[in-house]
Amino acid sequence: MLGLPWVPNQAEGNQVADRIEAERRVRAARTVPESVTGANLVRQIVASGTLHVRSHVDIDNELGLKNLREILKVREHLADLVTIQIVAFPQSGILRSPGTADLLAAAMAEGADLLGGLDPVGIDGDLDGHLDPLFAIAERRGTGIDIHLHDGGEGGLAQIEAIAQRTRAAGLQGKVAISHAFALGSVPTLLAARTADLLAETGVAIMSHGPGGATIPPLKLLREHGVRVFGGSDNIRDAWSPFGNGDMLERAMMIGYRANFRHDEELALAFDMVTKSAADVLGIEGYGIAVDGPADFVVVEAGSLAEAVAARPRRKLVIKAGRIVAKDGVLVP
Ligand SMILES: [Zn+2]
Repeated sequence: MLGLPWVPNQAEGNQVADRIEAERRVRAARTVPESVTGANLVRQIVASGTLHVRSHVDIDNELGLKNLREILKVREHLADLVTIQIVAFPQSGILRSPGTADLLAAAMAEGADLLGGLDPVGIDGDLDGHLDPLFAIAERRGTGIDIHLHDGGEGGLAQIEAIAQRTRAAGLQGKVAISHAFALGSVPTLLAARTADLLAETGVAIMSHGPGGATIPPLKLLREHGVRVFGGSDNIRDAWSPFGNGDMLERAMMIGYRANFRHDEELALAFDMVTKSAADVLGIEGYGIAVDGPADFVVVEAGSLAEAVAARPRRKLVIKAGRIVAKDGVLVP
């Protein structure tokens, strides 16, 4: 809802299901298309130095593919500034929003890049019923999956393991990510470590945004076990949360704050989560500063990488393909 008049949060409870219902109401009342707010968002994040995006676009039986088509327009119009990967995201569930599985398949045919999923047990109440259509479509098309899993405890852990096992069975190693994965932070370390080995073996990546109100996965333990761990924004000014701005340097700070990182090598880990590791998961080729690499980079005033994460200085310059696209935090016209 960036660029629109402020919309107070309307969720009546504090559960994922309450937020889903509130969002459906807010969406039904909105008159400004997603292409407008989506473009506002792209301009804001490019000014903060983000040049590659994975975006989860809501698809359910009320919206159909409306939002997807709006974000496809944004992707096309702003292709000079940013690359956008689109996740066809079943925000209202798959089984509790009948017809969504077919819509997800249609979304992939219309230009979405990956399939999304959401709490197979917590929201849809049926692990196989939720995962079957996702893995069937992904296997047929050879595309990736990005599942948002809030379910915690050993029940959530069992879902993480099921997703990893299905990833292996479908030959999708390296193409699947689980976002949030709060469960990994809410079980005994021994159990988390065992699951970490399975995640590493099946190439399932874990995204964390440094959650304010839930357990955070044990980032360092996951890394030590060879799991790809990366960072994301989760909400940016939407019906779920008033917070978030798409500034990934600030996000690295939040992840570090939430994970109780204090040492430079820990801050470097948080920074890596929103840069190189995220680019790896997105499959961005030629990422990083290298001879003959693309001239894409961000300039900040900081004495070290750790200082940059801690201070989140203004982005002095954002360079895309050798061209200055933003200066002092403002997009160049
Ligand atoms: Zn999420």
